[in-house]
Amino acid sequence: MITGKNYIGNELSAKGNTTYHTFDPKLNLNTEWTFYEATEEEIDSAVQKAYEAFQSYKNFSGNKKAEFLDAIAEEIEALGDILIETYMKESGLPEGRARGERGRTMGQLRAFSNLLREGSWVEATIDRAQPDREPLPKIDIRKMLFPVGPIAVFGSSNFPLAFSTAGGDTASALAAGCPVIVKSHPMHSGTGELVSSAVIKAAEKTGMPDGLFSNLNSSGIEVGQQLVFHPKIKGVGFTGSIKGGTALYKLANDRKEPIPVFAEMGSINPVVALPSALNEKGEEWAEKYAGSIMLGAGQFCTNPGLILGIKSTSLDRFLDSLGKAIEKLEPSCMLHPNIHANYEKGKQEVSGQGGATVIADYSASVADNYGQQKVLTVNGANFLKNPKLHQEVFGPFSIVVRCSDAAELTEVLHKLEGQLTGTVLGSAGEIESYAKVVDALTSRVGRIIFNGVPTGVEVCPSMQHGGPFPASTDSRFTSVGTSAIKRWVRPISFQNWPQEALPEELKDDNPLGIMRILDSEHSKDQV
Ligand code: NAP
Repeated sequence: MITGKNYIGNELSAKGNTTYHTFDPKLNLNTEWTFYEATEEEIDSAVQKAYEAFQSYKNFSGNKKAEFLDAIAEEIEALGDILIETYMKESGLPEGRARGERGRTMGQLRAFSNLLREGSWVEATIDRAQPDREPLPKIDIRKMLFPVGPIAVFGSSNFPLAFSTAGGDTASALAAGCPVIVKSHPMHSGTGELVSSAVIKAAEKTGMPDGLFSNLNSSGIEVGQQLVFHPKIKGVGFTGSIKGGTALYKLANDRKEPIPVFAEMGSINPVVALPSALNEKGEEWAEKYAGSIMLGAGQFCTNPGLILGIKSTSLDRFLDSLGKAIEKLEPSCMLHPNIHANYEKGKQEVSGQGGATVIADYSASVADNYGQQKVLTVNGANFLKNPKLHQEVFGPFSIVVRCSDAAELTEVLHKLEGQLTGTVLGSAGEIESYAKVVDALTSRVGRIIFNGVPTGVEVCPSMQHGGPFPASTDSRFTSVGTSAIKRWVRPISFQNWPQEALPEELKDDNPLGIMRILDSEHSKDQV
C-alpha cells in the first residue's frame, strides 16, 4: 500500500504539512496518492540514524552485505504487479519497459552481491617490511578501500527503478558499506515508496541496523539542498539535468567540508557516419537510428541527439531515409507534462537557429504529453559558430551535421562538450584512415561504440557510463557496472599495524582467499 509517507530508517513518518501528488501523464491528471514532504527535522533524523547505522555496517563482512542486497532483489520481485502498475501510472512508460527495468534493477543488486562475496574489489595491497634494507629499513605497509559514510542519492526521472530508489547508485553505495538516504524523484514517489518498503523489509530480515536506508519525499529543491549540506553526508549520487547536477556540485563544494558529487547529466551522444557506412548501409542505419532516437520517447541519457557526416550524395540519401523512417513511427507518452513542455521549448529554440533545415517533423495530432519527433540538419560552419545547436533536447530529437570535409568534422568534434558515448559507423579500415576524427571523438566520451546505436547500456564490469563534464562531474568514475562502487570508498594505509588488529583482507594468512597485490605482484598467496 502507498501511504505517501517518508521512511526515516525503518519508520514511516509524515510530520510536515506540505503535500503533493504524482501525475499520470497518459490520463493527464494527478494520481490518487498524496505525498508528504520531509521536514527539516525528518531530514536530520534520517541522517543521524544513517550515521549511527554506519558505525556497525562499515564493519560487516562482504557475505553479510551480499545477503542484504540479494534480499532487496527478492523483495522487489515479491512486490509483484502493484510495482509494475504504479511505475506505468507514474511514468507513462509501457509494461515491457517496466518489467525489463525491474529485472535490470534486481540484476544490478545481484552483481554487487557477487562482487562482495568474491571480495577482491577492496584492492588489498601489501608491501612487506624489509628490516635489512640499506640505507634505511622498510616498514610493513598495507592498504585497502573503506566506505566513506552516509550517501545522498537523487532518484532520476527517466529510470524510476534502475537509476532511482534501489538503483545503481544505492546498490553500489550499500555494497561499499555506506548507508543511503534517497531523495525520491517527485514524479514517481509512489514507485519509490514501494521499492523503499522492499529495502526496509530486506534490512529487517537480514538483521541490518535501523537507519541504513531512508527515503525522503519532496516536490521542490529544498529537501535535496538540506541533505547535501548536512555535515554527516559524505557523498552524493545524482542523475538528471545539467542545471540540477551543477547546482548540487557547487553546493557540496561550498560546505565547510566539501564532499564529492557524482552527477550524471546531459549528453547528446555524437554519432559519426563515415563514408563506407553511408555508401553501403545508409538505409539500414537510417532505420536503426530512427528507432534509437524514438526509444523511450527519446528520454535516455544515451539518446543519439547528434549525427555527423561529410557532405556527399550518400549523406543526402541517408537524411532522406532517416526522415522517412522516423516519420513512420508513432510518438509515445513522455514522463511528465514538465518534461514534455521542456522538450517542446528546446525543440522550438533549436529549430529557430539560423541555417537549420527540417528533415522530419511529426505533425499529426497526438494525445497530451506525447513527444512528437523532429530531425533537423545544419552544415558544419553553422554548427561550429552556434553553441545553441549543441545543447541537449531531452526527447525524440536529433540534428544531422553536414561537414564539408574530414578536417571540419574533426573541428566540430573538438568543439563538443563532454559526452557519455560516441559512435563510429564505418569499416575497421576507416578507424585508421580517419584517425584524427576518431581520436577527437574518443577525447570527448566515456564509451566509444563501433557500428551500433548508443541506446541500451549493458550492465557489466567493463561498462563506462560517465564522461568528461558535463556528461558527468567526474569522468574517472562510472555510474553503471560494478566499478560504480569505487565512488563511495577511500583508501586507508596501515603502517606497522599488529596482525590481530588488521582487517581480514590484509591479514598475513589471507583468510578470505582474495586476490591482493603482494610486493607489487597480483597474488592469492599468504604473506
Ligand atoms: P532535474 O531537474 O535535474 O531533477 C533531478 C532531481 O534533482 C530532482 O529530484 C530535483 O528535485 C533535484 N534537483 C534539481 N535541481 C536541484 C537543486 N538546484 N538543488 C537540489 N535539488 C535539485 O531533472 P529531472 O526532473 O529528472 O528532469 C528534468 C530534465 O533533466 C529533463 O528534461 C532532461 O533535460 C534532464 N535529464 C537528463 C538526463 C540524462 O541522463 N541526460 C536524465 C534525466 C533528466 P525536485 O524535482 O524535487 O525539484
